[in-house]
Amino acid sequence: MTARPLPKSLYAATARPPITAPPLEGERKASVAIVGGGFTGLSAALHLAQAGADVVLLESHEPGWGASGRNGGQVNPGLKHEPDTILRDFGPEMGGRMIRLSGGAPQGVFDLVREHQIQCEAHQGGTIRAAYHEAGFAEIRAGAEQQQRHGAPVELLDAEEMRRVTGTSRYVGGLVDRRGGNVNPLGYARGLADAAQRAGAAIHGGSPVTRVARGAGGWAIHTPTGIVRAEHLALCTNGYTDGLWPGLRRSIVPVFSAIAATEPLPEELARAIMPARSVLYEIASITVYYRLDAANRLLMGGRSALRDTSDPREYSYRRLIRYSETLWPQLKGVRWEYFWNGQLAITPDHYPHLHEPAPGVIAALGYNGRGVAMATAMGKQVARRILSPTAELDMPMTDLKPIAFHGLWRSAVAARVTYGRIRDMLGV
Ligand SMILES: Cc1cc2nc3c(=O)[nH]c(=O)nc-3n(C[C@H](O)[C@H](O)[C@H](O)COP(=O)(O)OP(=O)(O)OC[C@H]3O[C@@H](n4cnc5c(N)ncnc54)[C@H](O)[C@@H]3O)c2cc1C
Repeated sequence: MTARPLPKSLYAATARPPITAPPLEGERKASVAIVGGGFTGLSAALHLAQAGADVVLLESHEPGWGASGRNGGQVNPGLKHEPDTILRDFGPEMGGRMIRLSGGAPQGVFDLVREHQIQCEAHQGGTIRAAYHEAGFAEIRAGAEQQQRHGAPVELLDAEEMRRVTGTSRYVGGLVDRRGGNVNPLGYARGLADAAQRAGAAIHGGSPVTRVARGAGGWAIHTPTGIVRAEHLALCTNGYTDGLWPGLRRSIVPVFSAIAATEPLPEELARAIMPARSVLYEIASITVYYRLDAANRLLMGGRSALRDTSDPREYSYRRLIRYSETLWPQLKGVRWEYFWNGQLAITPDHYPHLHEPAPGVIAALGYNGRGVAMATAMGKQVARRILSPTAELDMPMTDLKPIAFHGLWRSAVAARVTYGRIRDMLGV
């Protein structure tokens, strides 16, 4: 497999330059080998290297090539499930840890950005959840009550307040969570890679791991041009998980999401659209998410074709533009300059997953669209587990369970999208 270039995204055009990460050549030893150079792998590498571990990270393409360098840049707090559900599913001890980990995950990102002086347009302007029908707002209200009981800084917004913070009268209500914000995600990934490298981690791009085998004293991790022999192996491949580890790819659904971005908008138009410069996602079966960047570009994200495409004529991009113009008719005539998409991992239970499928092997994946903050936090959990096998984790270690009928995921996702669109139209 040859290393593939980044998609022609806004981030590829605007992020800080990449680090030098040449392919692995020859054989070497390490304490930990990490597969995957997104937020999970880079955060694990950084925290391990800072603790003095000898770490090698292997990435098929370049650090940030996967979802980490392509996402909406929304640094969102919490998990897909509300606190009471988490406590019901995992009990007060583990459930409480999960709530604290996921609630504090955005602050973890902004702290890393500050600590390592990462140039990534970081801005902690809050995350808004928006509802355009009463059923969605009822869901938000129920969640807000639980969040507040757990001390989260969330506030409900009525229709008028939503109009004020979004410049559109589409929403019947919403919620703002002050812990959230945004980054240029490719800049953040490259900054993490830089910090990990400076802390002593070896980072190799153009190094797809093709095979892993258990040998004397650990694992042999093979790429086309080299081998790493390591005591620990961390699998951090999320939506790009391949057949490297048996059953791992089948434990998640690798859905696509697409983003379109405008040219920089005039200040007045940008201020009319999102005066508070928060990030927003809608409560709907098919999530739409958007924000402005530091140059006043509007980034609009949502459902995607089920393949890599940057073709502006593709239906999902045209849909995003049409929807934007419904929200803000004054956008008509604005130029849309960038179109890209990527894959993220959804788990059947909508919780992030941590597995130890064999001695010395750990896998972390499945952030269900909240990976900017959560993948960073989970990378740190991976590091903590490797550094101290008896350390208490803030996310449960679960068995690796392949999904039945996984081969049908494309048709299932397509059917779900159609079903979701009908529900969204009906407002149910
Ligand atoms: C379009 C889009 C928008 C999104 N928007 C948001 C958002 O606004 N907010 C949010 O919180 N989350 C969002 N997400 C999700 C978020 O980006 C991910 O959850 C997160 O980046 C996952 O990070 P990761 O490191 O686990 O995986 P990735 O960043 O996907 O990295 C995995 C890496 O593993 C590498 N790899 C795979 N197999 C091998 C192998 N055999 N050998 C070597 N390397 C390998 C891949 O090349 C890839 O670079 C979005 C995702 C997409 C695609």
